[in-house]
This record gives sequence, C-alpha cells and structure tokens, in this order.
Amino acid sequence: MEYQAKELFAKHEVPVLPGSVVETADAARAAAAEIGGQVVVKAQVKTGGRGKAGGVKLAENPDEAAEKAGAILGMDIKGHTVHRVLVTQASDIDQEYYVSYLLDRANRTYLAMASVEGGMEIEQLAVERPEALARIPVDAIAGVDAAKAAEIADAAGFPADVRDQVVDILQKLWTVFTSEDATLVEVNPLVKTPDGKVVALDGKVSLDDNAEFRHEEHAQFEDKAAADPLEARAKEKDLNYVKLSGEVGIIGNGAGLVMSTLDVVAYAGEEFAVDGHSVKPANFLDIGGGASAEVMANGLEIILSDAEVKSVFVNVFGGITACDAVANGIVHAFELLESRGDQVTKPLVVRLDGNNAEEGRRILSEFAAKAPEGLIEQVDTMDGAARRAAELAAAK
Ligand code: GDP
Ligand code: MN
Repeated sequence: MEYQAKELFAKHEVPVLPGSVVETADAARAAAAEIGGQVVVKAQVKTGGRGKAGGVKLAENPDEAAEKAGAILGMDIKGHTVHRVLVTQASDIDQEYYVSYLLDRANRTYLAMASVEGGMEIEQLAVERPEALARIPVDAIAGVDAAKAAEIADAAGFPADVRDQVVDILQKLWTVFTSEDATLVEVNPLVKTPDGKVVALDGKVSLDDNAEFRHEEHAQFEDKAAADPLEARAKEKDLNYVKLSGEVGIIGNGAGLVMSTLDVVAYAGEEFAVDGHSVKPANFLDIGGGASAEVMANGLEIILSDAEVKSVFVNVFGGITACDAVANGIVHAFELLESRGDQVTKPLVVRLDGNNAEEGRRILSEFAAKAPEGLIEQVDTMDGAARRAAELAAAK
C-alpha cells in the first residue's frame, strides 16, 4: 500500500510528505490537526486509480478531514474495501512526473521507465503516447549510479531546474529497489511543487517474497486480513497451496503434474455440469517429491477444511519417492488426522502410478477395505480418476 511504500521511501531518503495512517474519522481529525493546514485524505488499498474512484480528497481543516475520511472509509474501490486512510500534508502541484523500476522478464533485465507526463495511468500513456515514456534497461550488476540516473532523466526529458533532484531521487529509488528486494518500485506522480521541490506523492512497491528470509521487517507489510484464510494456514505449514473456487480438492506431487491435474479435472467436470455450472478443481496443492505422511496429512487437513470441497483427488506419480512410500503416507495421514480429531468424511480418489505402483495400490486397497464404504477409491488412470472425482463431487 501507498503508506507502506512511503515508509520504505523515507527509510532510503526519497523525499515524501509527512502523514499518518488511521482507521477512523476521529483519528483522521487528530492526524490532520497535528499536520496542520491543508491535508489530503487517501484510501489505502492495493489498487491504483484511487483518485478517479473518489478515494483521494483534499481537506482544508481537521473537521473536513474527518468528514472526507468518513466518506472514504468503507468505500469499495475495484473490489477492495477501504479499511485505512492516509492523512498527509497537501502539496500544490506544478508538474506531475512518472518514474519506476521493474523487472523486465521478457528482456531478462531490469528496466527504468520515466516520463514528464505523470499523473495519468501509465498504461494509457504507454499506448497513446509511447514516445513520452522513456524506457531504459538497467544492468543488474552495474545498477543506477549518477551517470545512469542522468541517462534516465535526460531520456525522459526532465527540465534543467529539476534534473539534479530527479537524478538524486532515481539513485535512491534504485537503492529501495535493490536493498529491499523489490520487483517493482513506482512513483506516480512524482511532483514538482511551486517552490521547485521534487517529492514522491504516491508510491507502489512490490516485494519479492523469495527474499523474505532476509527481510524479517517486511512481515509487518503483509495484509493478513486480506489473505485467504486457507492459504494463510497452508503458508504456515510451508505448503504450495493456492485456493481456487471449485469442488474437487487436488493433491499431487510436482507442480507440472498438479497443473495438468487441474486441467483434466476441469475438463472432466464439464460432463457433470448442473445449470451450466460445471465441477471444478478447488485448489492447487503440490506436496513435492518427498510426500511424507506429515506433509500429506497437512495437505489433506487444509483441503478437507475447505467447505466448498466435495471430493478429493490424490494424483501421484512415483519417481524417486516410490508409490508404496506415498501409499503409506496416505495411510499415516488418515491416522494422524484421526488422532487430531479430524474425521475424514469426504471421498478420496487416488491414482498411483510410476515407481512401485503395484505395491502402493496393494497397501491402499488393504487400508480402503477397513475404511468406511466408498471413502477411498483407486482408479488406475489420471483421466479416469479425474472423472470419478468430478462425478463424486457432483453427486454430493
Ligand atoms: P492513485 O489515483 O491511486 O494513483 O492515487 P494518487 O496518490 O496518485 O493520487 C491521485 C491524484 O491525486 C494525483 O495524481 C494528484 O493529482 C492528486 N493528489 C494526490 N495528492 C495530492 C496533494 O497532496 N495535492 C494535490 N493538489 N493533489 C494531490
Ligand atoms: Mn498514483
């Protein structure tokens, strides 16, 4: 969110205006009183275009700030509910600029983008007037020093009166980008005030969560309230889980296999459509190569606690971890869940293939014979198992 981006900017000495984040109209009044003078009340949601949506309002005094905050709090902006507003010192604007750094995957490089025509949506500018948006590749090793920053500023055509400030800010934003491990740092608008100062009036930073391990302090930026509760629990257990909206829970080993399992289930699910609503996969879950009982139990637990799930499809291709080990993992997972007080009641369709499949199937058949009728079924082929899982979900 903007206020978090601005915290990172301030940490690396990118100029921003003072402000504070509040959750009530009264707190907005107090914040405005402390800042003094004209303030801007800004919705804090993870989407752009807040200005156009009415989520950015000027206020002349503390009472007006409270009134504007009251109107903005609770507002829905592109599907995001506003729970917080930033009350920040207002600034008169002489010019609005745009600058950003991002990872340019297509060209396998970092990219700086800059324009002296900021403020508007940059996607629109890029389409309508591409010549007004400078795009300068940045070498990952060389980075942005004063000379590179000057190259970016000059390519965008920043006028002489702000050039030095922009060159300085571009270097500091590069520090934000690299030392915070970001994949995007964007300022829109970067403004020139009437007294000639350049400040970041808005900010957007995407952090690379692969670098989480070296940024404990980034945990505070996470919006726990906005995260899916099942995904949050899966994350705590180090599972590769993504919630989808469907009825067939999916567990597989290997991201590629799980991706194709989703496709196969979605395809099979069309056959069981009711009122045009077909059966779909409920999630992505890759339990990886090891497929230990504990990982299997954790995965099953998450999937079974998804109220939308009607059946579960376990699709495993035995490789280095052989199918008998996976079958034992499933058996132990059931025991583990039972000992935790979670009775498994949703039907499971298991397809085991690959290394030692026969022994794996034998272990599971033995277990299934003792389990409640129809709780565990085995189907030899992936397509057949997907169809059966979809059928069971449709029948529920
Ligand atoms: P976005 O619409 O979500 O990108 O939100 P921004 O923070 O970029 O704000 C949108 C627009 O509101 C900016 O382009 C500015 O024109 C205006 N704005 C934001 N802060 C101020 C301010 O302090 N003073 C003035 N005059 N305008 C502001
Ligand atoms: Mn903006």
